[in-house]
Amino acid sequence: MEFESGHRIKVAGAGDFLTVQEKLGEGGQGTVYRVVYREKEYALKWFFPGTLKCPEEFHVNLKRNILDGPPAPAFLWPLFLTEETEGSFGYLMELRPQRFCSFTDILNAKERIVKHSARVNAALTIVESFIALHRQGKSYQDLNDGNFFLDPSDGSVLICDNDNVAPYGVNLGIAGKCRYMAPEVVLGEKPGMQSDYFSLAVMLFLLLFLSHPLEGEKVIKSVCLTDRHEVRHYGNSPVFIFDPANASNRPVRGVHNNAIALWPLYPAFLREAFVRSFTEGIQRKERRVSDNEWLRLFIRLRDEIVVCGCGGENFACPEGPSGDGTFRCLSCGAALTAPLRLNTQKFSVAIAPGNRLYDCHTSEGSMDCRTVTGEIIRNKKNPALWGIRNLSDSPWNTGMPDGTGREVLPGAALPAFRGIHIVFGGGCRAEIV
Ligand SMILES: [Zn+2]
Repeated sequence: MEFESGHRIKVAGAGDFLTVQEKLGEGGQGTVYRVVYREKEYALKWFFPGTLKCPEEFHVNLKRNILDGPPAPAFLWPLFLTEETEGSFGYLMELRPQRFCSFTDILNAKERIVKHSARVNAALTIVESFIALHRQGKSYQDLNDGNFFLDPSDGSVLICDNDNVAPYGVNLGIAGKCRYMAPEVVLGEKPGMQSDYFSLAVMLFLLLFLSHPLEGEKVIKSVCLTDRHEVRHYGNSPVFIFDPANASNRPVRGVHNNAIALWPLYPAFLREAFVRSFTEGIQRKERRVSDNEWLRLFIRLRDEIVVCGCGGENFACPEGPSGDGTFRCLSCGAALTAPLRLNTQKFSVAIAPGNRLYDCHTSEGSMDCRTVTGEIIRNKKNPALWGIRNLSDSPWNTGMPDGTGREVLPGAALPAFRGIHIVFGGGCRAEIV
């Protein structure tokens, strides 16, 4: 059964109707329509009658999610339920804007994220969204690349199909996909916070390396992935493709070229986090990288971006690929000098024009990586001179290498020289080295 254009369905609890415009697509659980409700366009997901395993529980859970509201802006969240009719029901959510493409298309190379900054922004948004979801005591349950949408130009993220989001311990009968599950969940355990950490690590690995962390030589050898093989590779004996102590599942040239090419481009601190997640973290859940740790790691990664004169973005980690103080631009091959760094207690920001300071850099105890508090700028008259502009709303105290000091008011800038000390209004201290 499909609804024709013009079909009207009553919205639950409101007494008024939505009007179907056109069918947009179809998934395993139901059909999605573009509809109009109260003169605004929405997407309606309508469930196929009889496909939900626990329809009562599912309905109650969905209703509660609507009342709780979205945990973070990236969630394309259920907004209104319809009345039950024709043996089923549906819910309304915002329409997904055209600029977003599915993560599946990115993994299949139909779409490409070109800029590091966009990729890091996507990673940060996914991590922030999971932190917010966990704060509500919920888990996603049905993580897979068909549920994530990205704007490849800037890394904006939309997380869709949120009808399976449920509190920890509640299982709505959604199986999920083995490739995204923690090994213990593949083997039948209930998902929890730490299994979500594993799934999050898989998601982030896919985003950065466009390859699956557990799919290498060993998996290629089992010609087709039957259910039994899936349980073996993702459940019983998963092996990380870059496990330093086990080379049995290395990426295969010609098949896993992305993993081979992209792995060395990232700073060691980030690679180490993935190694920990997919080696020790396979058996010892408490060793997995938590969502808050991922947040800090991706803030650090964003701090490493240096834009070359050609416009190409590079990572400038001190212990990075070359290690000798210079590195080559990935886009044009020019030799770039390792930048000065602004070191705080927790972070180290590459002093490169365009890089920004955020509240997490300048305020004690803050992990807010979105509120801009400063920016690295070029002097307009002399582009070789760089400075740091105070974009926060409180003055900074700075100490120059010669012992003099001055106050940098909001909107004003200081030169970015080695040896300068800064005490930000938010309490953090920094030194340029
Ligand atoms: Zn370049």
